[in-house]
This record gives sequence, structure tokens and C-alpha cells, in this order.
Amino acid sequence: MVHFVGAGPGAPDLITLRGAELLKEADVVIYAGSLVNPALLELCKADCALYNSAEMTLEQVLDVMRQGELKGKATVRLHTGDPCLYGAVREQMDALDRLGVPYDLTPGVSSFCGAAAALETEYTLPGVSQSVILTRMSGRTAVPEGEAIAALAAHGASMAIFLSAGMLTELQAELLKGAYTPDTPAALVYKATWPEEKTVRCTVGTLARAGQEHQISKTALVLVGNFLGKDYQRSKLYDPAFTTGFREGQP
Ligand code: SAH
Repeated sequence: MVHFVGAGPGAPDLITLRGAELLKEADVVIYAGSLVNPALLELCKADCALYNSAEMTLEQVLDVMRQGELKGKATVRLHTGDPCLYGAVREQMDALDRLGVPYDLTPGVSSFCGAAAALETEYTLPGVSQSVILTRMSGRTAVPEGEAIAALAAHGASMAIFLSAGMLTELQAELLKGAYTPDTPAALVYKATWPEEKTVRCTVGTLARAGQEHQISKTALVLVGNFLGKDYQRSKLYDPAFTTGFREGQP
């Protein structure tokens, strides 16, 4: 059996209880390179076989999984954050289907959640934004045309941009083609929840400069939107005048 497990954003105690249990029982672990905190691998059995997938092709990963399955071993495929975002898990699952190898998935805390915690903020603020766009700049993996940052920026929604900290000048220019202005708040969060975590608050207009000044060009998320500003409306749910199925509102 192959278990796809979300390792969480970095801090070893941010893996789920289920994920930690699977790691402790695993005979084989294939982990996603430097994005996974090595402290998590300390949970593994002494004789657990460890593979760093950063040095492997899909075919090599599948081969390790298939060999493990033939020997009746429990294999954990440890992905950073949650496997469902930029995890390249679909191609692995489809191949395992073809090979007849069973698998399951255990979610993890995505780095965009870790980044919000690091900044002590909330993406969905009444009166500001009720949507979060998770996206990336086009790189060696192309982004479909309709999802270009400039197009998504037209919404002015809260945005968490993955895999793009090395392209901040281009990203800044793309963001400014949409509804954001040079004064729209932005932030860089480097290695959220790791001991070396760094948070830098800036604006869309100063994004590239902030990256240069703080030497952030990888393993970081770019957050953009007025949710990083001061203004918002309080919630209806906890408004004394608001009636819900559980509470009678008082005028
Ligand atoms: N599945 C992962 C994303 C993998 S893509 C998740 O759910 O978070 C790798 C990108 O994620 C990095 O380039 C960076 O943009 C972001 N990332 C991963 N871990 C991070 C962390 N701890 N802090 C900030 N960004 C992180």
C-alpha cells in the first residue's frame, strides 16, 4: 500500500496525527526533498528506507513504490504542505492504478495556511474579500492563458502565489495590470513555520524591492490583497443582532 501524506508547511508538529502514524509505521518513505523538514524523518523506523524524490524521476519513484508493494511493504510518499497543490500526485496515482497498487491520501496543512498564521491574518474578511486565489506565475510549467496573473488580478481578491518568489519583478508588473494598485498590501513569507521563517510586509509596488532587500527568492509565498490592510467589517455570525439557528439575535 502507498500512502500519500501531506507533511505540512515545515514545523514537524504540523503534520496530522494520521500522517505521523503512517510515517512511524512506514517501511519505505519517499520524501519531497528540501521542502520537507528532515525532523519529520526522525519519526521513521531505524530500518526504514528513505528516498529523496528531488533526485528521482517519476519512473524511479514508481519503481520504488512497485518494488515495495511486491514485498508487502508500507510506503509513504511524503509531500510538502498538502499533496493536492502542486504535488504532482495525480500522475503517480494514475500510474499506480495502472499497476494495480492500492493507495490512499492523508491531507496536510498547506503552506498558504502556514503563511496566514505566520502573518496572523485571515484571507476572507467581510467587506474586503471572500475568495482566495491560489496560483503561480508561468515558469517552466506553463499556466493556462486564462489564468495569467494579470487576468486573476482583475478580481482584486486575496491571492496566495506559489512557486514565484524568483520572479518578483515580473510578478509585480502582472499584478499591477489587474485591480491592485502600487499601494495594495502584499507580503512575502519565507519558510512559513520553519525555525528560519521570515515575514516581510510590503505593497504590490515594493514587492520586488522587498524580495531583494530581504534576499527572498525561493521557498516563499507571495500574498497580495487588502486582507493584509487594516479595514474590514465585523462578521455577521457573531453580531449580537444576527439570528442564527443556534442563537436569537438581540436588537
Ligand atoms: N503542496 C505544497 C506546495 C508545493 S509547491 C503546499 O500545499 O504548500 C512549492 C512551493 O510552495 C514553494 O515554491 C513555495 O512557494 C511554497 N511553499 C512550500 N512550503 C512553504 C513554506 N513553508 N513557506 C512558504 N512557502 C512555501
